[in-house]
Amino acid sequence: MMDLPRKALNGFAADLGGTKIAAARIANGEVAERLLAPTDPAAGPEAQITAICGLLNRLGHTKGAPLGVAVAGRVDSAGAWHAVNRTTLSAIRDFPLDQGLTRRLGAATCLNDAAAAALAEGLFGAGSASDSFAYLTVSTGVGGGLVMGNRLLSSANGLAGHIGFVSSRFASGPCGSGRMATVESIAGGRGIAAAAAAAGREGLDARAVFVAASEGEDWANRIVATSASAIAALIGDLTTVLGLDTVAMGGSIGLAPGYIDRIRIALRDEPELFRPCLGLAELGHDAPLIGALAAHLRKETL
Ligand code: ADP
Repeated sequence: MMDLPRKALNGFAADLGGTKIAAARIANGEVAERLLAPTDPAAGPEAQITAICGLLNRLGHTKGAPLGVAVAGRVDSAGAWHAVNRTTLSAIRDFPLDQGLTRRLGAATCLNDAAAAALAEGLFGAGSASDSFAYLTVSTGVGGGLVMGNRLLSSANGLAGHIGFVSSRFASGPCGSGRMATVESIAGGRGIAAAAAAAGREGLDARAVFVAASEGEDWANRIVATSASAIAALIGDLTTVLGLDTVAMGGSIGLAPGYIDRIRIALRDEPELFRPCLGLAELGHDAPLIGALAAHLRKETL
C-alpha cells in the first residue's frame, strides 16, 4: 500500500455518530472548515444520507470530489451499513451506503467511525511510530481499531476491531451488541451509569460518576476503577493476540482527567511483555474525519 503523507489529504469527510453529524472540508491534511448538525437517531439510511449531503453542499463539495464517511455501526467490505448496537441508529439494517453516497455525491468510501479514528491516529497521530497499534475509545460504548504495519485491520463482515465486545472478567451485565459480560458493558458510559444505578445512584451518567469519584466518594471510585481495570485487561489481552507496542486512548471517558492513570495502575498487574506504551489520542474529534478521507484516498492509490 502506498504511503500517504498527511499533507496529501485534500477533499471532504463526514462523521455520523449517534448524537451528531460532523462534516468537514480538509485541506493539506487539516480540517479547514467544519459543520455540525444533530443526528436524528430514528431516521432511515436515505434520510441520513440526505443530512450528510446537506452539510457537504454547504462546504462546497462538488460531485466526484474525494470523500470519506465515518459512521457509527458496522460497514462490511461491500460497503453495506449495519447497526451494531440495538439502541444506536437502529433503523440501519444492511443498507448499501457506499453505493447510496456514490450515487448522490460521485465518490465515497465508508467505514466505522472508531476504525477511521484508529487509522488517523495510526498514520498521523499517537501511533505514527508504531508497528502494531490499537486505538481504544471509551465513550457511551467502547470501540476501537487496530492498525498493523500501517494497515487497518478489517474483515469482510466489518466486525474486526469492535474490541469493546470482548468478554471481561469484571463484567456480568448485558451489552448493546447482544453479547453478555463484555468490556463495553462494564467500562463504557452506559455500563458506568448502570453500575451507579445498582449502587443506589439512579439517574447519574458517567460524567456525574467521575465528578463524585473526584470528590472522594468511595462507591464512585470503585466504579471508575473497575472500568479502568477492564480496559487494562483488554489491553493485556489484545497485546497477547497482536503483539501491540502502542495503545492510544480516546473518547470522553478515555480522555477524562486521571482515567489513563488508573489504567496504568491496573496494568502494573500485567507482566512487562503485556504492557504496551500507553498514551492519549492526539487528533481529537478530527480523527474520524481525517481517517475517513485517508481511507478513501488510499483505496484510490492502491
Ligand atoms: P459518544 O459516545 O456519542 O461518542 P462521548 O465520547 O462524548 O460521546 O461519550 C459520552 C459518554 O462520556 C457519556 O457516558 C458521558 O457521561 C461521558 N462523559 C462525557 N464527558 C465526560 C467527562 N468529562 N468525564 C467522564 N465522563 C464523561
